[in-house]
Amino acid sequence: MLKVSNVTAGYGRTVILQDISIEIGRGEVVTIIGSNGAGKTTLLRTISGLVKPVSGEILFDGERIDRRDPADIVGRGLIMVPEARQLFPVMTVRDNVMMGCYHPNAREGASKRFEEVLSIFPRVRERLDQLAGSLSGGEQQMVAIARGLMASPKLLMLDEPSLGLAPLIVQQMFGIVDRICQMGTTVLLVEQKAFHALKIAQRAYVIENGRIAMENTGAGLLSDPHIKTAYLGI
Ligand code: ATP
Repeated sequence: MLKVSNVTAGYGRTVILQDISIEIGRGEVVTIIGSNGAGKTTLLRTISGLVKPVSGEILFDGERIDRRDPADIVGRGLIMVPEARQLFPVMTVRDNVMMGCYHPNAREGASKRFEEVLSIFPRVRERLDQLAGSLSGGEQQMVAIARGLMASPKLLMLDEPSLGLAPLIVQQMFGIVDRICQMGTTVLLVEQKAFHALKIAQRAYVIENGRIAMENTGAGLLSDPHIKTAYLGI
């Protein structure tokens, strides 16, 4: 579904990603783990068209997207839920969620999808008329994912959905990600909380200093000695 081949990208003259290659098949949950500043967000921003690669290519559903506008990429069903949620705090939860289907390609069937999305997030349903800025961190993250789902994603890219959440909420969050995948959405999950993220991943990559350092099944990385010491604190 998504094929990133030998991508080098960065900001201005600063190269952050070097020769990155990853693949995601339809229906998979693929996780990318990496420490602070490794380049995880930059990779998602490059796939989304917000950062243009210096070299390499990105194929989505067999078509090149690396020179496309972000809006065009969203219209193809490649949706990113950004780190730190980026909701509109003075808009209601309902309006924030509905912003997900702003793109014309996502408008058809929006009211049916709204109901399906709310069935995944009962807490969001309870708070539809509340201002998004008054929600707890975990609730805001749920709204951000709900907004992403309203965009009718073929591939949903989640940037550190567990960031800043209490341990119990983190567990709930990964349960929800697992459920979204079981409902048929392909998921690319970027995380520092390696244990949970690898547990739900079929395959995973490790990014270190802007390069792919390792690739394996989620279970394979969980039992790898380097991952245990560097990322799991075991
Ligand atoms: P974290 O887990 O802390 O969010 P990350 O793996 O997502 O980290 P990135 O946010 O991709 O890492 O950052 C990678 C590097 O790119 C960092 O050194 C960061 O300072 C740099 N960087 C990020 N955004 C910009 C920007 N707009 N301009 C210049 N450098 C940037």
